[in-house]
Amino acid sequence: MIRVGVIGAAGRMGQNVVAAVEDAEDLILTAAVDPMISSIEIHDRVVTSTTVAALPAGAADVLVDFSIAAAAEEHVAEAIGRGFHVVVGTTGISAEAMASAVAAAQEGPGNLLVAANFALGAVLAMRFAEIAAPYFESVEVIELHHAAKRDAPSGTSLKTAERIASARASAGLDDCVDPTESFVIEGARGASGPGGVRIHSVRLPGLVAHEEILFGSPGEGLTIRHDSYDRISFMAGVLLAIRSISKRRGVTIGLDALLGS
Ligand code: NAD
Repeated sequence: MIRVGVIGAAGRMGQNVVAAVEDAEDLILTAAVDPMISSIEIHDRVVTSTTVAALPAGAADVLVDFSIAAAAEEHVAEAIGRGFHVVVGTTGISAEAMASAVAAAQEGPGNLLVAANFALGAVLAMRFAEIAAPYFESVEVIELHHAAKRDAPSGTSLKTAERIASARASAGLDDCVDPTESFVIEGARGASGPGGVRIHSVRLPGLVAHEEILFGSPGEGLTIRHDSYDRISFMAGVLLAIRSISKRRGVTIGLDALLGS
């Protein structure tokens, strides 16, 4: 039985992870951390805390973090140093903070797995985009999320653009060039991401997490689209990460490594 703690347990993702762990026969929820922990109902057996630092030693084998970007780096350093394995789904973490979390994980006794998207379809969409990237002149990414999302652009869209940029560079293609000469409204062309790939962020109530990757060449286009209609879409990937992390020494980035793609 793997003993699991959830950081950000009172949040939208955290509550889904709590329920998915409680439903899994080989996992048991033993810890829950959130400044708002008193706002949710949780089983008596679960050790609760408002901070990771206050969590007792050995409270769980694996901690799963779906909290906020500003706190995730500290959570990783603290938890890995104390021997917990850590699965991070929180997005918006700066490159510097991620590098220092990774460095902490390379030294500490616990293992670290970070994934910008735990939905299997989103992982496949990124892979398909990488395959298509060398064959098209240009590409832009549109990511669409619920109105309460705090960071933009989404971690998934950034990772998608990074992988497209790297596939284009390996094929000898130049960065994407924006042909726009004048802007009637500043920002109309979105943000310039890795390799000049434009990223556009949409925020609307009713959405969960969606991404479109639009490729274009003279006379043809290819659109790859993934939709998470419900947060349950992330749970298969989260459970896979929880079950795998003790066997993955050091740092694993992305769910692909667990899918063999
Ligand atoms: P949310 O705002 O609903 O939940 C965040 C929770 O974290 C809140 O309950 C908040 O009280 C808690 N929190 C804040 N500071 C904390 C701290 N220091 N320690 C512990 N808990 C703390 O947000 P959400 O929609 O659940 O999303 C959480 C994160 O997960 C976001 O970064 C989001 O982008 C990301 N996300 C990732 C995936 C993925 O597949 N990787 C999917 C969906 C969302």
